Parts: sequence; structure tokens; C-alpha cells
Amino acid sequence: MSPKIILIHPPIAKCSEPPAGIAKLSACLNANGVHHHVIDANLEGILHMLRHASTNNPTTDRWTTRACKKMEINLAALQDIATYRSPSRYQRAVMDINHLLNVAGKSWRVDLSLADYHDQCLSPVKSADLISAAKKPQANPFYPYFQYRLMNALKENPDFIGFSLNYLSQALCTFAMIGFIKQIQPRQKIILGGSLVTSWIKLGARRNIFYGLVDDMVVGAGEQKLLELLEIKDGKTFCPPDYNGFPLDKYLSPGLILPYSSARGCYWHKCAFCPEKAEGNAYLPLEVSQAAEELQILTRLLNPALIHILDSSISPSLLQALAQRPPGAPWYGFTRITQHLTDEDFCLSLKNSGCAMLKLGIESGEQKVLDQLNKGIDLPTASAVLKTLKKTGIATYCYFLFGTPPETKECAVKTLDFICQHHNCIDFLNLAIFNLPSQSVEAQSLATHDFYEGDLSLYKNFQHPTGWQRPVVRNFLEKTFKKHPAIALILRRTPEFFTSNHAPFFYS
Ligand code: SF4
Repeated sequence: MSPKIILIHPPIAKCSEPPAGIAKLSACLNANGVHHHVIDANLEGILHMLRHASTNNPTTDRWTTRACKKMEINLAALQDIATYRSPSRYQRAVMDINHLLNVAGKSWRVDLSLADYHDQCLSPVKSADLISAAKKPQANPFYPYFQYRLMNALKENPDFIGFSLNYLSQALCTFAMIGFIKQIQPRQKIILGGSLVTSWIKLGARRNIFYGLVDDMVVGAGEQKLLELLEIKDGKTFCPPDYNGFPLDKYLSPGLILPYSSARGCYWHKCAFCPEKAEGNAYLPLEVSQAAEELQILTRLLNPALIHILDSSISPSLLQALAQRPPGAPWYGFTRITQHLTDEDFCLSLKNSGCAMLKLGIESGEQKVLDQLNKGIDLPTASAVLKTLKKTGIATYCYFLFGTPPETKECAVKTLDFICQHHNCIDFLNLAIFNLPSQSVEAQSLATHDFYEGDLSLYKNFQHPTGWQRPVVRNFLEKTFKKHPAIALILRRTPEFFTSNHAPFFYS
């Protein structure tokens, strides 16, 4: 039987876990009896490229020779929990695999890594460049992989081929694959969805901007739209994800990571400059009892090594529900700093429910910056939360943001002090330089100009009110902040490329 639809997860995204968005669509299609296939072209493409590079590489320097020779051993190492007991062994495996990808990309004039894709000539935020990528699929480094894979997929005569585009690092490959399909089968219907596409449309991009390549661009959750296209009325749309179509034993993790989302949007929804707020995304949660039950069912079914809760911020009520009804496997996710997490008994119950790590957006060590960003957190509570989590054995992955409009260098120094004072309670760090979402209300009160000079750019460059501009911030981070011995130590143990996706394995 021909599939009605083929859903594709394009390169490049982290290949440590199966893609959640397509798994939700797949579940919806199954629930409505629609024959379909899923293709994780990201994982398949990366593995194809690594295997080809390891046997056909003309480069003979020592690192490349070693990376080629040990490629299969390194892939196996990332699937073995013992590797995570030896951070240096883990780091060697990741760096060797990444090096090989990077070398393979060079001959295509692309800077490739395990987490990013940077074409030296084409930009993912210029629609003209995306169209150029579609016109020359043969110039894409994944062409040797996808030409056969897509040709075989087309032989199945699907009614639709859908691409899930969530990250800028996927955009040029997505369009190269679409261009290839259109060269072979010009009448093939193409649907483009995913969170990046949603952001583009909310930014004001025309839905027919890729006319001739893309037949439909989907905003938000794709379930309803797919059922409409398939002319299914009153179909079931809310289903737990279905990962059956994915090669679950091939992902680069020591056991399956099960991604699960209990809500769209963020329950707080107030932080200035947050894309959730700027794009006006509604908060649409499942009942917490349903989410807890679905997690237990999925865990029994799939026996994951780790559950990745994808919510922008796990609500206190879901935390409570997970504590009362443990999912049955270790889990981690993002949550806000709240009073609940200063309660040792509550944190212990989270720990006992399998909570391996919490990601916390603290952003700044200066209260007036937090207040102006509308974070709704205070530093004494943040401090108490970090100490309680440490005491109860839950790892912390803390996010800090530099160069926000209310921040000055003095504020950034206070952030440095805050981290140093809590260095024993912070396991992993993410340090980011602020990007101004072009749709934010606040952007209108700042002097701005286009950031990447692309019509699809989600961000704008701005004149910082006190001159604390990106290059100065970057310089401070590199030359002062990251050099502090306490911070350098935390950064050294923070996993490269896979970052928070692998971090909990160092504590399990
Ligand atoms: S808590 Fe996070 S996701 Fe929610 S509004 Fe703030 S920054 Fe955005």
C-alpha cells in the first residue's frame, strides 16, 4: 500500500534522540488510520556521511587518521553508559566524531558540526538563498545520502511529503532535499512545518514565499492541518508521541532518550524579549494527571534510559504530579526558579521520582536586571533553590544571558560573582549573548537594524542603551568570565555539542 504521507526530519540537529514533532504527527496519523512513513534524515545523513568520510578521506593528518580509524568505536562509545563515567573518554569520542564531520563538510564549503550547519556562501535566513539551495541540491553535503533515500521514497508514490523544520541548522538541507524532490517529481506535494516555519509566518513571511517548492506552510501544531489535507473530518488530534517508526537503537546516547511534551507555550509567558511572548504563543497544557499517565505508559512501552521533558517550563503542578506518579525512568527538563524548589522534602520527592537534572534560566546575578526582564524570580530564592537541589542530589544546568538591554558590565560582574558563590551547586552552564527578537514589544523602543540582513531573520541588532554591545560582551565573556577558575571548571564538564541532552548521563 502506498503511504499517504512521508514525514522527514532533516539535517542538522543533535542526533541523540528521535524527533518529538514528527512522533506526535505520526501518532495522530496512526490514530486516524493513515498509512505513512517517517524518515530521520538527520541521523541517517550524519551516519552516512561519517561512514563515507572514514573510508574515503584523502586528509592524512594525525587527528583525521585517528578519527577515521576509530569512527565505529567512537559511535559505539557514545551508546555505552561506561563512557560517561570517564569524561575524557567521552570528550575524545565526541571531538573525533565532530572532527570527521567537519572535515567531510569542508570539501562542500560547509562548516559542519554535530549541532550546527554553516554554509560559507548561503544564509538560512535569506529566502533567496534557501531557493538557491533548492536549485542546486547536488551542492549540499548530504546529497550523496539523500539522493538515493528520496528516490526510493518517491517510488512509493506518497500523496504528500512533509518536512519538519525546527532549527536554522536544518533550513538549507531542507530546501536542498525539497529541490531534489521537485527535480525528480515536479508534481510531488510538499508540506513544510515545524517551529522555525511557525516563527517565520508569525514574523510576517508570506505563506507562498516558496511558491513552486512548497505547497503548504503549517503554523503551530501540524496535526489538524494534516487531517484537513487528508480530508479527514473530526479526526483525533491529541495523541501521545509514537516513536515506532524511528531507528531507536541508532541514536547517539546510552539507551533511548524519550522526548515528551506536556504543553505548548509557557505558563509564565512574561519574560521580556522571550520569543514565546514576542510571538504571542498561547499556553496549551495537557491535564497534569494525563501527562503523568502518558509518561508511565510510554516508559513501560519503550523502556527509555532517560526522559526529556520538552516543555518551555515544567509547571509546578506537573512537578508535583511527577513526584506523586513517577514515570519509571530518570527524567529532566526546564523549570522556573520557584519557592517550591526551596522545599527539601519536595525536592527529595522529585529526586525519588527520577528527576536527574533541572535546567534553570537564572539569566543574571543582578536583581534589577531580572526585574526589568520580568523574570519573576529573586536572587535569594535562586540561591536557596540551587542549594536545595544540590543537597537532594538533583543536577543543575544553569542558563545565564549577557548583553540584555538593562545589563551593564557591572551587572555582568555581579553575575560572575553569583556563579562563583554557587559554583558548588551548579553542575553545568550555558552562557549566551542576548538576541533581540524582532517581534518583541521592547524592540520598538530600541534603535535597531537587521541582525543577519536576512528577510527571515528572527532577530534584530540593537544599539545598547549603555554601549554594552555584542563584541564588548563577547570579549568580556571570553577574556574574563570563562577564565575564572571556578567557572572554567564548570564549563569543562559541560558536554560539548550535545550539551544538556547528554548532561544527565554524567549523573546517572
Ligand atoms: S520562563 Fe522561559 S519560556 Fe517562559 S517566558 Fe520566561 S524565558 Fe520564556
